Amino acid sequence: MAVGWFGELTVVKDLSMREPYVGRCELVSGEIAEDFARYFTVSEQTPSLVYLGVRMDAQSGTVLSSGGLLLQPLPGCPEEHIELAMARVESIKNLSTLLENGRTLQEALHEVLDGLNIEVTETTMPRFLCDCSRERLERVLISLGKEELEDLIEKDKGATLTCHFCNTAYSFDEAELKALLEESLRKDDDAEV
Ligand SMILES: [Zn+2]
Repeated sequence: MAVGWFGELTVVKDLSMREPYVGRCELVSGEIAEDFARYFTVSEQTPSLVYLGVRMDAQSGTVLSSGGLLLQPLPGCPEEHIELAMARVESIKNLSTLLENGRTLQEALHEVLDGLNIEVTETTMPRFLCDCSRERLERVLISLGKEELEDLIEKDKGATLTCHFCNTAYSFDEAELKALLEESLRKDDDAEV
């Protein structure tokens, strides 16, 4: 991963619709939290408070703790609640320190958002997961069409496709490509009927 300030922040969301939602925003600061806050405000039109913090051991370079907070108002949120949240900004900056000192995430949240009467309605565990599959990439290959597939078979004797989201590489050998070519030809025939 690289951090910089020149370029664009692109967010792709799979909302189980036909096309994924894609939001873009120019990077302005290079501070990840600031750029995310700007993305939510500009691209998704949701004013947001974003905090990201990490505590490192300067000697060994190991991460002691890290924490992040994204605070967004729901529609109809009273102005004074937003002001209350804004007033807690300085305290929110202590989140990763509190975690480093052994507080659980919920304890730390109650502490930094003191006065906001927070109530936990749901907890989820984020994980790095991609729903790509060999079958999905087979469909991508089929959608390339007859010429492209024949080209891959004759010139490259195979193909390797890499998922844009998780970087998993899927390799197809010549025989597999030939089977996909046959499938694409069958589909063309069906389409003509
Ligand atoms: Zn993937």
